Amino acid sequence: RGTPKYSGMVEDCCCDYETVDRLNEEVLHPSLQELVKTPFFRYFKVKLWCDCPFWPDDGMCRLRDCSVCECPESEFPESFKKPDHRLSMTDLVCQEGKPQAAVDRTLDSKAFRGWTEIDNPWTNDDETDNDEMTYVNLQLNPERYTGYTGPSARRIWDAVYSENCPKYPSQELCHEEKILYKLISGLHSSISIHIASDYLLDEATNLWGQNLTLMYDRVLRYPDRVRNLYFTFLFVLRAVTKASDYLEQAEYDTGNPNEDLTTQSLIKQLLYNPKLQAACPIPFDEANLWKGQSGPELKQKIQQQFRNISAMMDCVGCEKCRLWGKLQVLGLGTALKILFSVDGQENSSHTLQLQRNEVIALTNLLNRLSESVKFIQEMGPTAERIMEGG
Ligand code: FAD
Repeated sequence: RGTPKYSGMVEDCCCDYETVDRLNEEVLHPSLQELVKTPFFRYFKVKLWCDCPFWPDDGMCRLRDCSVCECPESEFPESFKKPDHRLSMTDLVCQEGKPQAAVDRTLDSKAFRGWTEIDNPWTNDDETDNDEMTYVNLQLNPERYTGYTGPSARRIWDAVYSENCPKYPSQELCHEEKILYKLISGLHSSISIHIASDYLLDEATNLWGQNLTLMYDRVLRYPDRVRNLYFTFLFVLRAVTKASDYLEQAEYDTGNPNEDLTTQSLIKQLLYNPKLQAACPIPFDEANLWKGQSGPELKQKIQQQFRNISAMMDCVGCEKCRLWGKLQVLGLGTALKILFSVDGQENSSHTLQLQRNEVIALTNLLNRLSESVKFIQEMGPTAERIMEGG
């Protein structure tokens, strides 16, 4: 058990690998698993209709499992709905592969009760753009193997990496640039680990299970990719803990008082866990970034790069991958916003404001990263033993 290969501090972070594994196992993973099942956190608002600004859409999905099940209206929390807007019975069928078919454009005013609609400078998606937006029950659409592969998938990853390794002539990537690269690489590792942990082993019998070879080939054999996953996990965790006052006071009203109370108490459990506060109070220290004369300019550049990456998610040619790609990039954008777009000073005009969807994306992203860290911790040594013949 454990990740003995990785010891010492997670790069650029303030906790060591062992502590991260322990905290994840004891505190973070159990609370997050509960939290993401609550009604508030399981419905994600998203524009799934592919509107790729970069390439004509040639991505095709091989499997039925690519398709996202949109939520029948009966599933939404009452307070997300407008009462007089009813779908007919025939619409209550899962709308596979037809994201534009079941969009309820009137949901906003209720769904955002108590939440601001404010732009995130780090991302391309605008939640207030209501056309073609729909709600998806994330619990019905787990991130796993979909069969999406080949030039379309490769092109997106290539573009994402080339976007964030630009053009600082004759210099090493500066610190902040490296951080953007590490975040993307950590997310990429996490996606690969989810593919490996829930893989279609036999199409004929529809047998699903773990594919340790794939996990080894895509992630474990490159220690940097594992390190980047841990880094991304701590980075996002830091954003969540930095926003804890805001998150504690936010409204988690879905119209079901019992479930909403549970959500509130799970949030507190996560944010104010004494073990977390004792062992890893500041998982990542953002205070050193964006300093110096070129700081503001650099920040703007990186912000633009991240927005481009966010826009590329519309080009992902498989619906379920697009859903999770968009959610997780929005989650990263939210973490960046929390850490870098707010002054952190009282009475500042830049106090933190988050959209409901940003909080959902951030929390679900943290949960995904936590699952990946746990899977590596549990299965990594076995996969390495098998693959390295030890
Ligand atoms: P890829 O994973 O496509 O990697 C391409 C190249 O990137 C590699 O050859 C390597 O040079 C580099 N690379 C790989 N990992 C890292 C890393 N961690 N850090 C740095 N560089 C790296 N498929 C699914 O089955 N289910 C999904 O839910 C899913 N979601 C996706 C979401 C997005 C946004 C995208 C772009 C793709 C998604 N895919 C999904 C496809 C999947 O990620 C792979 O692209 C696909 O399985 C083909 O894998 P590959 O072996 O060609 O390598």
